[in-house]
Amino acid sequence: MTRISTLRPSLVGKLNERQILRVLQTRGPLTRAEVARHSGLSAPTVSKAVGNLLDAGLLEERAAEFARGRPAAKLRLASARVQVLGVVIDVGHCSVVSAGFDGVLHPDSRTFPTPPTYAKLLDALAKHCEERMGKAGIETMGVGVSVPGLLDSATGRGVLSPNLPITNGRAPAADLGDRLGILGTAVQESHALCLAEKHYGRAVGMEDYAVLDVGAGVGLGVMNGGRLLKGHSGLAGEIGHLTVVVEGGRPCGCGNTGCLETVCNEAAFAGRVGRKLGRPVTADEAIELVRSGRGPLAAELHETAVYVSVAMAAVLNLFNPKTVFVHARLFDADDTLFERVVELTKARALPPSVADCALLRAGGTKQQGAVAGIVQQLTDAVADHVQSM
Ligand SMILES: [Zn+2]
Repeated sequence: MTRISTLRPSLVGKLNERQILRVLQTRGPLTRAEVARHSGLSAPTVSKAVGNLLDAGLLEERAAEFARGRPAAKLRLASARVQVLGVVIDVGHCSVVSAGFDGVLHPDSRTFPTPPTYAKLLDALAKHCEERMGKAGIETMGVGVSVPGLLDSATGRGVLSPNLPITNGRAPAADLGDRLGILGTAVQESHALCLAEKHYGRAVGMEDYAVLDVGAGVGLGVMNGGRLLKGHSGLAGEIGHLTVVVEGGRPCGCGNTGCLETVCNEAAFAGRVGRKLGRPVTADEAIELVRSGRGPLAAELHETAVYVSVAMAAVLNLFNPKTVFVHARLFDADDTLFERVVELTKARALPPSVADCALLRAGGTKQQGAVAGIVQQLTDAVADHVQSM
């Protein structure tokens, strides 16, 4: 999964530089003195390493603030001369975006329907990435790829994607990186949401939180003590495949029946809406019906809210997070739905677990998570294992 050969090999081996990049990714723009304080490095060491990073175009320094009457230039991750790419592979649509090393997305996001085969998927992703790599004077340092389903964290290879089987046995980030001649890193989509929340969303500085994703599937990322809970081989968090309908449940893409996903995801909601309307309805159409307020869908929304609360209560009881973020398009369509989920979760979860836990809507996106994944891969100890996420 990690190939750094194309990338400033003289810098990536240097611990002090990596430490400084890491501090700036986590804390945002800082003065040199603040970098020294947060990194634990001496002022002369910071000065030398910062000089190397400025020369390499990985940092920028902007005179801005006045501290005790003196101007204090702030160091920040570069956005003028370097960029990274963020790719989201999802069941219905894929998207490609570029961003500064500081994680700020450029306004060039492109979304397109997910192609039917892996070869076509790779062709489409490479084409859209190449379009974003052609900017004069800007070097593209790597591509982060958010991948649905179960992902082997050591190889970046899809193990089992119940909703998008074309990625099974494939390593899309490595394959795309090879095509583009840049570093590619894969991030499981729920983990991508965790990283997005940590770096660019509402979990900045938080150590213990979880992100529940209710979309084409139902996924979970758990940050425990500042580390992403990955399990033995990166497969942890598959809450969507918890059996909740023991007999007579609908078939799930994983091969089982009655999984939480089959009653909780967007397709399940679309199924309820379709039965009400007496015709097949896609997930996009069902969500649009909610958004436009057409058709009384209260019962269908309530049933979905009940199952989301089952997932939420399980997360609270199992992991005791300080905050649970929920990422779901359905909540964007109906503002009252999330409040209902919160009420149902509070009634269902163990009272001590819920008493000290905030339930919030997620602020981050998978695009940001893909970008965070590659920036972290670039700033992190490169040969280090990814548990440090
Ligand atoms: Zn399943």
